[in-house]
Amino acid sequence: MSAEIEHGTLRGWRQHNRRKDPPCEPCLEAKRADNAAQHPATSGQQAWNKGRVGAAVAASTVPVIERCTVDGCGAPATTPRPDGMVRVHAHGSTEPARWYCPGRCRAIGQALAELRTITRKAVVA
Ligand SMILES: [Zn+2]
Ligand SMILES: [Zn+2]
Repeated sequence: MSAEIEHGTLRGWRQHNRRKDPPCEPCLEAKRADNAAQHPATSGQQAWNKGRVGAAVAASTVPVIERCTVDGCGAPATTPRPDGMVRVHAHGSTEPARWYCPGRCRAIGQALAELRTITRKAVVA
């Protein structure tokens, strides 16, 4: 076994690779920073990004919203109300009224319903 991996550095990233070990997030970040330094964004890309530069975050590192496993959560509100759930609907939304758990699920459901109203308005306009 060789020396400890220097996590969070480009060398650490190479050490991961040499060991056929998937790089950890700090090492990936160091690699991205190095890529960005070696391949600066063109002025066109900078304008597109409103002046921001740097590599995009890999899709796999974006946390996925955990799906609620509570029975009836997200069910259309045409069904009888599940215990303790709240009805969520946004006026003009293509998303039908649904039952959600109060709190986080309700907030996500509301955001989803409101998002669908924006989409609809955009299509009509
Ligand atoms: Zn590492
Ligand atoms: Zn829920």
